[in-house]
Amino acid sequence: MKIVVVGCGTTGNLIIPKLKGDITIIDRDIVEEKNLNRLIQFTKKDIEKPKAEILGKKCKLKYKIIDLDYSNVKILKSDLVIDCTDNMETRFLINEYCIKKNIPWIYIGVIGNQGRTLLFNQDFCFRCIFSEVKGLETCETAGVDMNIVEKTCNVALEEISKMKSRGLWANGEWIKVRKNKNCPVCNGKFEILKGKREKIVKYCGSSRYQFNGNYDFELLKKRFKKKGDWFVVDDFYVFRERILVKAKDEKEAKLKLSKFIGV
Ligand SMILES: [Zn+2]
Repeated sequence: MKIVVVGCGTTGNLIIPKLKGDITIIDRDIVEEKNLNRLIQFTKKDIEKPKAEILGKKCKLKYKIIDLDYSNVKILKSDLVIDCTDNMETRFLINEYCIKKNIPWIYIGVIGNQGRTLLFNQDFCFRCIFSEVKGLETCETAGVDMNIVEKTCNVALEEISKMKSRGLWANGEWIKVRKNKNCPVCNGKFEILKGKREKIVKYCGSSRYQFNGNYDFELLKKRFKKKGDWFVVDDFYVFRERILVKAKDEKEAKLKLSKFIGV
């Protein structure tokens, strides 16, 4: 079975080593020291390196260091997509692609002491249940309860092994889920897949801002005498199609970036 896992954070660290099959893992982020306590597969020497690369090499899996969006969403083409992300925007994107292409996917969400999981392989979708991108979950909440993370991941793994959705699992309770007749996705409207790329993206629970832009990666590599598909210079993580900047707010991030690009 070909499986794609989106996200190598808290839930990804628990789920990914337990999977069997042809696995590809995706993540856009870097290992930070302050998150090490909940990223059980990572150690101090992994700090400042891309999560996908570390976990991919450790578990001998295919990996991609990318920020999943409408333009690269085809990477999800598989027999099962596992959501180990930390944000609703990505889940809505996964949902649209998987519903359109008829690919089963499983939602895994943990915040604070709340855990939820739901396998989508029936006639309802994520959008039938959740309609708001903002508000439901906030990743700025300090800490996640590792017991609930483990419980939620175990239920998710059970659902994956049976591939028969029992509905929404929320903190130990099973809730029946029904199709929403007015759901745009179930009615064939795939708004997110049509695409709109934000120029600046603030990362969940971190002090990094992502800039999506048309800068010259090869030129920057030459300037800083770097090799490979990504590199780090001070507060900048430079990837092929985006730059992450450490900053206290958006204004500072923009200022730092303009100096960096303009050097
Ligand atoms: Zn729906």
